[in-house]
Amino acid sequence: MSYTVKSGNLGYPRIGGQREWKKAIESFWAGKLNEQQLHDELTQIRLNNLQQQRDKGIEVIPVGEFTYYDHVLDTAVMFGLVPERFIYNGGEVPLETYYAIARGNKEATASEMTKWFNTNYHYIVPELGGRRPQLTVNRPLAAYREAKEKLGIEGRPVLIGLYSFLKLSKGFNEATEWDQWVEQLLPLYVQVLKELAAEGVAWVQVDEPYLVTSIASEDIARVKAIYDAIRREVPGISILLQTYFEAVAHYEAVISLPVDGIGLDFVHGGEANLAALRKFGFPANKTLGAGIVDGRNIWRTDLYRQEELLKEIISLAPEAHIVVQPSCSLLHVPVSAKQEQALTPVLRDALAFAEEKLDEIVALSTALTKGIDSVKSAFELNKAAVDNLAKDPARNRANVSEAVKKIATEPAARDNEFAIRRKKQKEKWHLPFLPTTTIGSFPQTAEVRSARQKWRKGEWNQEQYDTFINEHIQQWISLQEEIGIDVLVHGEFERTDMVEFFGEKLPGFAFTKGGWVQSYGTRCVKPPVIYGDVDFDQPMTVKETEYAQSLTTKPVKGMLTGPITILNWSFVRSDLSREQVAYQIALALRKEVEALEQAGIEMIQVDEPALREGLPLKREDWEQYLNWSVKAFRVTTSTVRDTTQIHTHMCYCEFHDIIDSIRALDADVISIETSRSHGELVHSFEEHTYDLGIGLGVYDIHSPRVPSVEEMTSMVDRALKVLDPELFWINPDCGLKTRGVEETVQSLKNMVLAAQQYRAKEAAVSSK
Ligand code: GLN
Ligand code: ZN
Repeated sequence: MSYTVKSGNLGYPRIGGQREWKKAIESFWAGKLNEQQLHDELTQIRLNNLQQQRDKGIEVIPVGEFTYYDHVLDTAVMFGLVPERFIYNGGEVPLETYYAIARGNKEATASEMTKWFNTNYHYIVPELGGRRPQLTVNRPLAAYREAKEKLGIEGRPVLIGLYSFLKLSKGFNEATEWDQWVEQLLPLYVQVLKELAAEGVAWVQVDEPYLVTSIASEDIARVKAIYDAIRREVPGISILLQTYFEAVAHYEAVISLPVDGIGLDFVHGGEANLAALRKFGFPANKTLGAGIVDGRNIWRTDLYRQEELLKEIISLAPEAHIVVQPSCSLLHVPVSAKQEQALTPVLRDALAFAEEKLDEIVALSTALTKGIDSVKSAFELNKAAVDNLAKDPARNRANVSEAVKKIATEPAARDNEFAIRRKKQKEKWHLPFLPTTTIGSFPQTAEVRSARQKWRKGEWNQEQYDTFINEHIQQWISLQEEIGIDVLVHGEFERTDMVEFFGEKLPGFAFTKGGWVQSYGTRCVKPPVIYGDVDFDQPMTVKETEYAQSLTTKPVKGMLTGPITILNWSFVRSDLSREQVAYQIALALRKEVEALEQAGIEMIQVDEPALREGLPLKREDWEQYLNWSVKAFRVTTSTVRDTTQIHTHMCYCEFHDIIDSIRALDADVISIETSRSHGELVHSFEEHTYDLGIGLGVYDIHSPRVPSVEEMTSMVDRALKVLDPELFWINPDCGLKTRGVEETVQSLKNMVLAAQQYRAKEAAVSSK
């Protein structure tokens, strides 16, 4: 066999082991660091990252993916694509402008931010409208030089490919302006690559993640045109065309592109990529980037198993050059598992964050070049860790697996259909026309946050903390009554985060000390870890809700985070399907719902803000995901009485394409965010009527501005043109925890006034 094997990486977390990156940038924003100091700090982090990769023995080290905020924004400003509303006169984009695009400034609003494929990373959407791109600086070249000069590292520069860059951008008409934009940007890509070639760069990594989505075959022609041109113009540089997060959609066409290597994800979409490799083989003499260490999850790799997989890959691509690499950039995992000493040894040993994943990559490539015996101890260590976790009692709760098995054969439906429930609920609740409610949380003031800190640190005992929380509940129950809201909430003062709160109380979850990953900009999140079978232990929300209900004769809505949102915002064990884990969570939450009902809480909201973002990248996989997600929601909510009203909430309005699934949740009432794109939503209800209870957010909770009564009634007027007024609710867009107290009270007062106007009109009509 003529293959060669190397170890490689695709990208490294930028945040630093102690989130130094975040701290430095935020200090700069706060004026505590000047620009030079910021550069110095970030350079240090960047060089440490490179050194780390070299010290671990990684042979192909990516350079240029490091950023001061977001790598997509970096690409846009490299091409001088600064939205028109920011002052910019050409040349290298000043740091101040760069951050203004990301965060907005006094004069102009920030660019839109959106999810990076199906990850929890968010990128800044490039705005092309009316811009003339120009090359302002060759970022990959600067990164390459730095690594070489400072550390003697011959790095592999990373670029976002032109096809994906355009797909990620907005502000142009894809149908009519695609070619024009390619014509403008292609020469800039060519220039970047020519300068790299002139510098002596042998390889570049060009990321084209869009190739894993369900792209049309015409798009393959677009991709081919781009890479044909690049090959023609810059024959002297080798390109690794990198894909990730799923299998490539047109395998045969992609592997025949005129590039020197293809990077494939053999973890996410691995089966489909492997099937394609089996069927179509791989071109001789191209490099195959074999992504076999999971870059999206935190678990140690079963090295024996992945070595088998690698061998199969090699046998299917016998004349390829292999780079053993992660499935995607390690940006999506935390930096180092070394800090996790507080976890149980079994769990701690089973974790692999970015640093540990580098070791795994090197162990796998060494096994292939020098034989397994040379890395036997690493293989054995991983095997023991993986086996021990599998055997852990937390992963083997027989009651949980049996219950999950059982629901597979159960229908998960309410006793009666909505039409019947609706009548019974109407009789029970006597709600006014267009009832008003809120989404759950009320302002988490500095006082609330500091109380929680005191309690966590042990400065306050449980009783002191409970008293504090109860005082807040009491205060807000009175406020809601004064304002005149119809369905009240307790306010969620005891919760930091809507997933963490439940995770901390459910067996099967663990929390890391340093498991931070970047979510957007300098915002980092520490997702809970679902490592064991998820089980119900004891009621989690009953105490506060029951207390709130005891203070009022109006109904208080119970408040839970739904199974799909908990799943999608956690790191999930990889030995079970996500579907199975979702059912485990659903069954645990069902017990909570039942406990609430038993305690006399007979309106219960189960939030699913992350349902939509879990949609698979390929359209053809949506149905399956939606089916089991809907089932999980129904498992949670279907055992209650007909008179118990189930609510759900979602923070988005792109509803259109999943409306049947939303309907299938069979929630008695849904509240959704709409105020920022009301037109679109109303339009979607023109096409599909919605025949369950529904509240369209009547005001934007993202801004401190107090909306007027008229603004809200104009929203409601439009909605009532397409929705049944008898089923309509009035509520804000989302929870109010980030708002101030004053503005919240004012806004809610206006909201209630709006509802009262409708009721007065209604009363006048019916008395005629
Ligand atoms: N009940 C939650 C709250 O009000 C819902 C938050 C969300 O949808 N993201 O904060
Ligand atoms: Zn929301």
